[in-house]
Amino acid sequence: MNAGISGHNLVGLDRQELERLAQSLGKPAYRGRQLYRALYHRRERDVAALTDLDRNFRQALAAHYEITYPDVQGKFISKDGSARYLLRLQDNTTIETVYMPEEERITLCLSSQAGCAVACRFCFTALLGLQRNLSAGEILGQVLAVAKAREIAPRSRLNLVFMGMGEPLLNLTQVMKAVRILTDPQGLGIPLRRITISTAGIVPGMRELARDPGRPKLAISLNASNEEQRTELMPINRKYPLRELLGACRDYPLRPRERHTFEYVLLSGFNDTDADAVRVAELLRGMRAKVNLIPYNPGSELHYRPSPLERVLAFQQLLRERDIPAYIRISRGQDIGAACGQLRLEGMRTGDLASQGG
Ligand code: SAH
Repeated sequence: MNAGISGHNLVGLDRQELERLAQSLGKPAYRGRQLYRALYHRRERDVAALTDLDRNFRQALAAHYEITYPDVQGKFISKDGSARYLLRLQDNTTIETVYMPEEERITLCLSSQAGCAVACRFCFTALLGLQRNLSAGEILGQVLAVAKAREIAPRSRLNLVFMGMGEPLLNLTQVMKAVRILTDPQGLGIPLRRITISTAGIVPGMRELARDPGRPKLAISLNASNEEQRTELMPINRKYPLRELLGACRDYPLRPRERHTFEYVLLSGFNDTDADAVRVAELLRGMRAKVNLIPYNPGSELHYRPSPLERVLAFQQLLRERDIPAYIRISRGQDIGAACGQLRLEGMRTGDLASQGG
């Protein structure tokens, strides 16, 4: 605990750490629990305003600590209502978080790392390389900052997907620390079933997650129908081949009514043929699985092209005929570079200027 450092951020500390913090300031542990509720349940942002804490504790806290969310440095609003937030962290690293409103709910797409080390050939975040892991506080900070910017009231219905920048299973300790605070009824109170971690297929991380009773839903980025094709698209497949990956999926415990979720980005002429669809169905045979088909979101730096709609539909049909539920995921925020795999800290392009700062 950095009790001596002025301006140390309280966001990211869990219940136990806050209890110890209270004790280090000569207070009983329950004062720390009060602070926990204030931070995450009520989303208070000013230590001096925490009038349920005794004055003396408040003053001692205010002398050394603060409640700081990432700073909204830029915001790009899509025609479809989604928005990409550029957030600046305390060390000036920038990350992105995407806000996606739907009729009945809001989904936030969170980053787990600044940049990414996984190097998938079709992904724009990969072009950045890995800058660093995010802390639990920075992961929570994304939810808190966007909820504040959007005036999302505590306990309104929120879905979270770890599909922004980074590979969550390569930062599992911090991701799971954040998830525990996010799901805790005394914390942000977001149900586990509304949180999804998406992975490029980090097998040891999947096995570790499988043992954690507080695990959120897991989605696997499959993206290919055989080993060779997958290695070409996702070099991580050399380390964790498809065969092992599917083994780890089979071992992964499902809750009642839950299915294994596979994401499949359709790349024209590369992984979108009838033969690919048939092979995918074969790979997943006997599993309680569903497939989310993601139309590729292109960009100038990479040469892949999205599959034409009739290919996407044919692919879906072939899976369905083989009893694999397949859904076409409509990409949100394409016009603002906020769609799947497009996060790359790119500034504004034409047309975005008008929407900034609004
Ligand atoms: N590292 C994690 C989470 C981030 S990527 C993972 O790999 O799952 C989230 C999803 O976006 C993945 O399914 C990935 O395959 C997909 N994706 C990446 N680049 C994309 C692009 N340009 N167009 C469409 N989907 C993309």
